[in-house]
Amino acid sequence: YTAKQSRQGIALYAAERDPHRTDRLGLLSDLRQAIADDVLELHYQPKISLADGSLLGVEGLVRWRHPSRGFVPPDMFIPLAEQSDVMPLLTQRVVSVALAQLAAWNERGLQVPIAVNVSPIDLTGHRLTDLLARGLEDYGIAAGLLQLEITERVVAEETAELQEVLAELNRMGIPLSIDDFGTGYSSLLRLKTLPVGELKIDRTFVSKVCESRVDVGIVRAIIDLAHALDLPAIAEGVETVQQQEVLRSLGCDGVQGWLVARPMPAEQITDWILQRRVTSLDARRGLSRATM
Ligand code: C2E
Ligand code: MG
Ligand code: MG
Ligand code: MG
Repeated sequence: YTAKQSRQGIALYAAERDPHRTDRLGLLSDLRQAIADDVLELHYQPKISLADGSLLGVEGLVRWRHPSRGFVPPDMFIPLAEQSDVMPLLTQRVVSVALAQLAAWNERGLQVPIAVNVSPIDLTGHRLTDLLARGLEDYGIAAGLLQLEITERVVAEETAELQEVLAELNRMGIPLSIDDFGTGYSSLLRLKTLPVGELKIDRTFVSKVCESRVDVGIVRAIIDLAHALDLPAIAEGVETVQQQEVLRSLGCDGVQGWLVARPMPAEQITDWILQRRVTSLDARRGLSRATM
């Protein structure tokens, strides 16, 4: 009975006791491999102005098709990545896919901003600002076309380093959007001093806006707060016309959700944007599609 055997025994025993742990470790190493193999994709979902139906931009959402598990949702692997050194690698891939897409659209005369999600951990140190500065330069992209969505969790964190990174992004001209607003604990003072350009109302409130007076009240309060701060409010997860109409009546500025469109792969969103542009041009010329 050697020390080595006993260690193996413990390892096996531990894995058996906590199958989820080995599962998570397996998933994380598969994710690392997926990043190395460059197989992560971005899907894009439009954000639309409620005032005139114009396209405000698209949000890039990471998609991972696992070789044996099939599609793994980001909510399952982003938290794992965040607890490891994988997150910066993932963000790097996502940013470079978004920049390449912006460059491809530029070439076709399309100027549609892409918002990418970044994690709190991405905002420590200067890795992200360096990456963005280099990327925008390499691809020849105007800073305003790449937006960052940061969750309200970030806003609640009050560190000098974070403040500095957000100020630097602001100096670079990169717009910031506060994601999942209403689920965190940001103070009004922090909100007022941060260089942000948009509040996104979390889907949990939006989804109940037709059923619950409390949720209507919360959504109204968030929209009013955004406007008091001179920021547009964008509702996420809008699925029905009824929800959209309630949001419109509350003065919401923009919507994103399945009602407008589901997140789509690059070619599909490009067609969607071009199609929409043609239709809105027709509308302005007073032509209906039927007369074409
Ligand atoms: P999020 O940034 O709040 O993104 C919105 C989520 O709501 C997306 O889920 C989107 O597919 C979903 N959604 C949009 N419209 C509707 C709707 O009408 N109904 C419903 N039920 N859902 C809708 P997804 O793509 O699964 O992403 C989940 C979260 O994972 C994101 O939430 C974001 O926090 C994170 N995430 C996604 N991609 C990335 C990424 O590239 N980097 C980082 N750091 N996080 C990401
Ligand atoms: Mg987001
Ligand atoms: Mg969100
Ligand atoms: Mg959300």
